[in-house]
Amino acid sequence: MRPLLYKPCQQPPAPSPAPPQGPRRGQVAVFLLLILTALVFVLLWNVDVHRIITTKTRAQNAGDAAALAAARWQGIGLNLVGELNLLHALALSANNATAVDAITNVQARVLFTAPLMGLAAAQVAAKNNGMYAEDDFTQIMQQHAQEVRQYGTLIGGVPLFEQPYPTAWVDYADMLDALVADGIAAGPDNSAFYGDSTGGHILRDRAFYEAVAGKTWCWFYLNNMDLLQNYTDYHWWPPLPPPTPQVPYNAEFLSLQIHPVSLALNQIITNDTTLVTEAVREGIDMSDFIASNVMTRTETWYVYNGEAWGAWSQIDTSGDDPFPLTGPVRPEYNYTGADAMFRVYATVDRLTPGLDGSSSNSDSVVWTAAAKVFGAVGPETARRPPSSYGLVLPAFSAVRLIPVDACSGASNGSFDMDWRRHIDEHLTAYLSFGPQNNGCWYCQQLTTWEPSGGSRTFQNEGLTWLGANSYQCTITSGGGGGGSRGGGRRRGH
Ligand SMILES: [Zn+2]
Repeated sequence: MRPLLYKPCQQPPAPSPAPPQGPRRGQVAVFLLLILTALVFVLLWNVDVHRIITTKTRAQNAGDAAALAAARWQGIGLNLVGELNLLHALALSANNATAVDAITNVQARVLFTAPLMGLAAAQVAAKNNGMYAEDDFTQIMQQHAQEVRQYGTLIGGVPLFEQPYPTAWVDYADMLDALVADGIAAGPDNSAFYGDSTGGHILRDRAFYEAVAGKTWCWFYLNNMDLLQNYTDYHWWPPLPPPTPQVPYNAEFLSLQIHPVSLALNQIITNDTTLVTEAVREGIDMSDFIASNVMTRTETWYVYNGEAWGAWSQIDTSGDDPFPLTGPVRPEYNYTGADAMFRVYATVDRLTPGLDGSSSNSDSVVWTAAAKVFGAVGPETARRPPSSYGLVLPAFSAVRLIPVDACSGASNGSFDMDWRRHIDEHLTAYLSFGPQNNGCWYCQQLTTWEPSGGSRTFQNEGLTWLGANSYQCTITSGGGGGGSRGGGRRRGH
């Protein structure tokens, strides 16, 4: 037998490598450099992601804290006015006319001081959570303080806006200037300036621009068919309305949504026992109360603005556009009324360049938050919304964050810088010269909207669509609000 011969399977020996030549060594170096660059980018990008996340969280906390702080002051103000209503009744009961005058005077002031305290508290809350004063916000506020000083200007013998109490406009402007001095970090986004009521003109309604951008023809069908049918060119628009002379009882920021009326108390709250019961619940001693001294005299009482304290229909959880709530709202809390919405901007400085190829190395983070005061009146077994009696009574005991979209005036965007610039600066130019090409999103929608060369292509597309599909257009929620809902679906917060 021949022994088995094992011959290991072998490759022929490789030729010994030649020492690296010049170009080859260069390739390795380039390769290493590429890997290193990629590694550095991954590292920097990680830092950026971390920064973006922490800034977002910071902005979120700051916005939420600002809204809650402001809403708390709205509650304090409302309760104070309510307690003063009860003290007013007691003063009348004791025939103390001096006290009555003092009480109604203080009430008129609380309608401004409480919201302004709320505005100040919101700034502190935002800054404590790491927000800095925003130059744009501070500038709006400063300009506005100057405008407020002109509110008493007489036009044809009538002041632009009548004062709710003597020295109101000076006090109010001084309070705003004091806030401006420290810088505004949180913008009160659902403010309603006396001079630019959003309902005054379609061009001041954000829903119009959103309808154009999204070709939401139903918006036109439900709100303004005339516009779609008859628009010719930018000369078609009526002029922007001047401010209407009025007595503004509530501050423009964080309105308490209440006002004085001159009536006998029994025309507001029919039963004096109810009044006594509510007062006793508040710990007020009513043993000396003489109803006959109080109920039939015509006096100044603070009552809820009926239209502002209706059912909270925006959060309707039924119907074809239900609001995604986690649970039902208790009947006593089913009201709109006073609420607060704040906007904060924070900047993230990136280490890596942006994907859009821009040279800017910073991103802006926006956060809007809304909060609201909750409370109820009536016996424990049958709690009802605070406005149930018409008369303002101390009722508020809690504040909660609410979805931005369920906040009153959510579409005002008072401190949305792009929107403000558009309505304050661009609209006048647009009405005189037509659509402006200035990078503004709202102006872009006006360009889309404008028939070019007399051809109403955009409008006709809408009319054709509605001709076949208008049956699909239904008012889903907040019906009758005149499109105040805005087109957004900002239902989270
Ligand atoms: Zn614009």
